[in-house]
Amino acid sequence: MNILLIGSGGREHALAYAIAKSPLCARLFTVPGNPGTAAFGENRPDLDVSDHAAVRAFCSGERIGLVVVGPEAPLVAGLVDDLQAAGIHTFGPTKAAAQLEGSKGFTKDLCAEVGIPTAAFARFRALEPALAYLAERGAPIVVKADGLAAGKGVVVAETRDQAEAAVRALFEEPGAEIVIEECLFGEEASFFALCDGTRAVPIGTAQDHKRVFDGDRGPNTGGMGAYSPATILTPALEREVMETIIGPTLDGMRARGTPFTGILYAGLMLTADGPKLIEYNTRFGDPEAQVLMPRLASDLVPALLAACEGDVSGISLEFDARRAALTVVMAAAGYPGTVMRGSEIRGVESAGTGTDVLVFQAGTRAEGGRLLADGGRVLAVTALGESMLEAQARAYAAIARIDWPEGFCRRDIGRRAVAREVA
Ligand code: ATP
Repeated sequence: MNILLIGSGGREHALAYAIAKSPLCARLFTVPGNPGTAAFGENRPDLDVSDHAAVRAFCSGERIGLVVVGPEAPLVAGLVDDLQAAGIHTFGPTKAAAQLEGSKGFTKDLCAEVGIPTAAFARFRALEPALAYLAERGAPIVVKADGLAAGKGVVVAETRDQAEAAVRALFEEPGAEIVIEECLFGEEASFFALCDGTRAVPIGTAQDHKRVFDGDRGPNTGGMGAYSPATILTPALEREVMETIIGPTLDGMRARGTPFTGILYAGLMLTADGPKLIEYNTRFGDPEAQVLMPRLASDLVPALLAACEGDVSGISLEFDARRAALTVVMAAAGYPGTVMRGSEIRGVESAGTGTDVLVFQAGTRAEGGRLLADGGRVLAVTALGESMLEAQARAYAAIARIDWPEGFCRRDIGRRAVAREVA
């Protein structure tokens, strides 16, 4: 079958790697793709993903049997709805179901409705009641913009003054909607479930590093590294997450007439009272896909197809139980601020081994046989190892083989997992 993958990041390079391995995959097209995805099929940067009619026409012209949507923006724009309406198997949630990611208020209301453990919260559309709520609740407290803000719309306020400043800043935007919620304490971990609208199958766990500098300092980013599995999520905790969070979410979405199909990526806080939902994303994470896909021992394509067909009950996904995966993101100097594009990266091919080191590309472009940096997060260097310590050592050894003076990475990815392992 021919498969169309939408996106251009390191996540899509990792998905292309997993999809192209499937015996079911005849041709893989990636729109727009990057130099990494080009190794697994054909990139089609000429196709405009926001032009749904053009994507539909492409699918019928190339006899596409499955469309996989990587990033959130096309989901929120309703690409899945339009392709499914044309009878094209498309993996990902509809626009209505993607609200689980697109609106924090929507998700919090669903949690309240069906009893999903999450931080106590209130939603506001005006400044005065929000300030009154802050006065009543005190600090620490968390202030969030309701819509998609690429990780930049959240302030974990230590003091009431910080909280007030955050609320005032958000209400400077006309029509702002915000959520104020209880501050939770614990360790964060991510849980991924493949959903068919009714049922879900676990598809791995991970932990990530969001801050730009070592020691979790500096501004938030899209993610500077990740590792899988998140061993802090024991099998008992995974069952609890399936029963108290994922299952009720699917039931609630079905009851609302907007069943959720696709990847539910639950950002969890493992509190003293058990796992609580911080947020949902409705697609694979980036860089989490870069550690989930290399450990996936099962064929991904039949699982994605089963979800599109509305029945994952026959699917059980096996992971490489012997090996851990860790990815270190190499970013261009200046990230997450303004970055310089166009610097040359050498040594990517010799850094990857194809077996225990995979270099996934994100913000890169190929030009005249050279590989150039073309974005903020540029590479995700993933290594597998029999322990997290081994995976970490391999990832950093591979990074040492990459010659890119204009790039940087954190030196402490996996620190906590490694410490837990040697303890
Ligand atoms: P991203 O998609 O980049 O994870 P986001 O803008 O969707 O970010 P959240 O995931 O809701 O926002 O929050 C970002 C971070 O803020 C969380 O990873 C967590 O560290 C912190 N945070 C959010 N909510 C809470 C909370 N209730 N208690 C404590 N920390 C929180």
